Amino acid sequence: MEVIQVPKQFQSLMLSLKQQGKKIGFVPTMGNLHSGHLSLIDIAKSKADIIVASIFVNPMQFGPNEDFDSYPRTMKADLEKLEAKGTDYVFTPTIEQVYPLGKEVHTSVEANRLTDKLCGASRPGHFKGVTTVVNMLFNIVQPNVAIFGKKDYQQLQVIKTMVSDLLLPIEIIGGDIVREDNGLAMSSRNGYLSEEELNRASELRKIILSAAEAVKNRLPLSEIKSNAKSSLSEAGFKVDYFDIVRQHDLEDADLNDKQLLIAAAAWLGQPRLIDNIEVNLTDELK
Ligand code: AMP
Repeated sequence: MEVIQVPKQFQSLMLSLKQQGKKIGFVPTMGNLHSGHLSLIDIAKSKADIIVASIFVNPMQFGPNEDFDSYPRTMKADLEKLEAKGTDYVFTPTIEQVYPLGKEVHTSVEANRLTDKLCGASRPGHFKGVTTVVNMLFNIVQPNVAIFGKKDYQQLQVIKTMVSDLLLPIEIIGGDIVREDNGLAMSSRNGYLSEEELNRASELRKIILSAAEAVKNRLPLSEIKSNAKSSLSEAGFKVDYFDIVRQHDLEDADLNDKQLLIAAAAWLGQPRLIDNIEVNLTDELK
C-alpha cells in the first residue's frame, strides 16, 4: 500500500494507471476508520482493479461551533486497517495542500438541490464543503466508481446530484449501514458517547424501526413523526429532525409514494447522531 500526500503526485499516478486501462475504485473518508468504512472498501474491491481511499478531515464541511478541532484523528491505526483490507493507495493531504490560499477564498462547488433540508437545515454550508472537497478528490483520484455510505443518506444523494449535473464520468454506489451489535449505526462520533449513552443510543434505531412498521401499516405520517419525536425526547435525545421523505429527492413524502426514507438526527449528550432506513412500500424492510 502506498500513502501519498501531494495532490499533483497522486493525480499523475492515477492518470497513468488509468492509461494502463485500470479501473479505479475510491472511498473518501475523514479517518477514524471502523467496519462501516471498511465495508465500502469491500464494495470497491468488487467493482474495481485499483482501490483508493482518502483520509482528510475537511474543515470546509464543519460549522463554526462543530467538532473540527476535536474530531478523532487516528492516522496510524487507519492506515493499518486499510492495508489489511487490501487498499492499494491512500491519499492523505494536509489542509494547506487542499486549500493553499485558505478555504474562504477557494473555488467552491455547490449542489443547489437537496442541500437545505434534513442535515442541511441545521448545518448551513456543510454540503457545500462536502461537494467542494469531493469534487477536488474526484479530480485528483480520477475514480471510475466511488462508494459512499447510506448512513449519510443525504450526502450520498447530494453527491449523485453533483455527478449528474456536472456530467462527471463516475459511478456512485451507496453502501448499506454497518451497525454495532445493539443496532447503533457505527460512526466516528460514537466515541464521544459514555458507556451509558452508548446503550441508550440504540433507542434511535428502535424508534426508526417502529416508525417504519407504522408506515407499512399506512398510519398517518404526521402522527408517526410526532410519536417518534416524543419517544426520542423521552429517551433523553434532543431532536434535530425526524422526517419521512422520498428517497430520490428528499421531499416530504405522502402515502402515495412507494420509496420512502425515514431519517433522523438527534443529540445524545455531546454528539449529534444520525440514522435512517429506506422503506419500500412494496418490499420487505431492509
Ligand atoms: P466519514 O469518515 O464519516 O466522512 O465517512 C466516510 C464514508 O463512510 C462516508 O461515505 C460515510 O457515509 C461512510 N460511513 C460512515 N459510517 C458508516 C456506517 N456505519 N456504515 C456504512 N458507511 C458508513
